[in-house]
Amino acid sequence: MSDKNKIKWENWAKNVICETDQLLKPASLEELQKIVKENDKIRVVGSGHSFNAQMCSTHTILDLENLNKVIKIDKEKKQVTAESGIKLKCLNKVLVKNKLGFALLGNADSQVSAGLMATATHGSSVHVGTVSDTVVAVQIILADGSLKTIDSSNEAELKAARCCLGMFGVIYSVTFQLVDVYNLEVLVKMTDQKFAMDPKLRAEHFSVDLLYFPFVDTFETTILDYTSKPADKENPFLEWFNDIFIRNIVVPILLKILVCFPGLVPTFMKLIAWFSGIGTGKPSVKPYIKVYLAPSHFPALDMEYALPIDKGNEALEIFRKLVKKYTSKEDPFYINLPVNIRFLKGENKTLIGHNVDRDTCYFDVSSYAGFKNYEPFFKELADEFIKIGGRPHWGKIFYKNPKDMYENFDEFLKIRNELDPKGKFLNPFLTKLVDGENVG
Ligand SMILES: Cc1cc2nc3c(=O)[nH]c(=O)nc-3n(C[C@H](O)[C@H](O)[C@H](O)COP(=O)(O)OP(=O)(O)OC[C@H]3O[C@@H](n4cnc5c(N)ncnc54)[C@H](O)[C@@H]3O)c2cc1C
Repeated sequence: MSDKNKIKWENWAKNVICETDQLLKPASLEELQKIVKENDKIRVVGSGHSFNAQMCSTHTILDLENLNKVIKIDKEKKQVTAESGIKLKCLNKVLVKNKLGFALLGNADSQVSAGLMATATHGSSVHVGTVSDTVVAVQIILADGSLKTIDSSNEAELKAARCCLGMFGVIYSVTFQLVDVYNLEVLVKMTDQKFAMDPKLRAEHFSVDLLYFPFVDTFETTILDYTSKPADKENPFLEWFNDIFIRNIVVPILLKILVCFPGLVPTFMKLIAWFSGIGTGKPSVKPYIKVYLAPSHFPALDMEYALPIDKGNEALEIFRKLVKKYTSKEDPFYINLPVNIRFLKGENKTLIGHNVDRDTCYFDVSSYAGFKNYEPFFKELADEFIKIGGRPHWGKIFYKNPKDMYENFDEFLKIRNELDPKGKFLNPFLTKLVDGENVG
């Protein structure tokens, strides 16, 4: 097939572009099984919210947007089984109607159920693990088109499948363990590092989620606690003003200007830190799905490392030193968005989840996509984080092969090889991962 016949696909951040022979959207399980059986080099795209090339295939890309049904809700066990193409925002609506919800979520709801699971999407709480840790069963279509159920009857496979980067086959359905739907008391404060990073704070509250403003050295600290209180009355105008107008209209315009005048980034950071501080300090009560969401609609590039939980302060020191180094270069790079620092409970429910066997401090650094010279900064920061035990988030930008950072990586690869011996579900990026080569 000539190149002009290729179909172009790009991810949400537009930093990954691939050209493929065919992009198929099957409408039934049977059709999907037939496609898998008859084609080679298959990758599935969810919502494309990952920042690396794991979704790409030059031959067959599948988009399962038509496989988006809730298959079963078990109210007694508090479990839901849904097709893999359902978006979190649609699933959430169904769950709330059934008075159920996820124990914890990240800060977006556009991902599909399989996408959330495949890269171990997480929120912030030392009492809860990743979304992958909540998976109790998965149905996967293997290379020969057969449908395989993986559940607790084969614990080793289930652990591997919970965070699998879509490398075992095409995921048809995912079953999640849920909790009763809940409200959260939300307290947002501008604080210093001592307060924000205090281990007692995160132990005593359900969730502590930090936004660190570089150059200002201040933290927007969000503290969440379960409450039986009813949710406060919503103020749609204020929500629109903050979430749409400021976050997704004013901030991207300012960032576009800053690309031409990067020396003004510290002033921009002061401005948004000041704005973020307005009206903080008063507790409010919100339904849980409203709390976690902080949707950004402008493209940013994202790297995130999962560190041992006691390395947070050290990571901040490393980060500050590099910010200083890169702003004083002849061709300077200014980190231009606040850093998200989150904490998570260690679990051993996956083989290669970022939080395997240790409580975790996540350090999430992003740069507006217009700043083209971010890469040397990202690479050096990643190297420094690896030195202090960092593991890269599977859905974000990373460069070094992470096999030495994940103790169970070989065991994971063994199971992958058993389920897909001919590599039907590998692409060049994943082949490098499997072969132990660096990916960037
Ligand atoms: C704005 C934004 C906010 C984010 N917030 C968070 C956050 O708070 N916490 C966090 O941990 N991460 C976060 N992420 C990262 C994101 O959650 C993960 O990258 C997630 O995997 C993306 O899901 P997706 O549906 O877009 O899947 P994609 O990115 O399209 O795919 C992810 C992986 O899943 C595979 N896959 C998808 N569907 C199937 C299927 N049916 N069968 C087999 N494989 C499949 C893909 O091939 C790929 O390997 C965020 C990303 C963005 C852009």
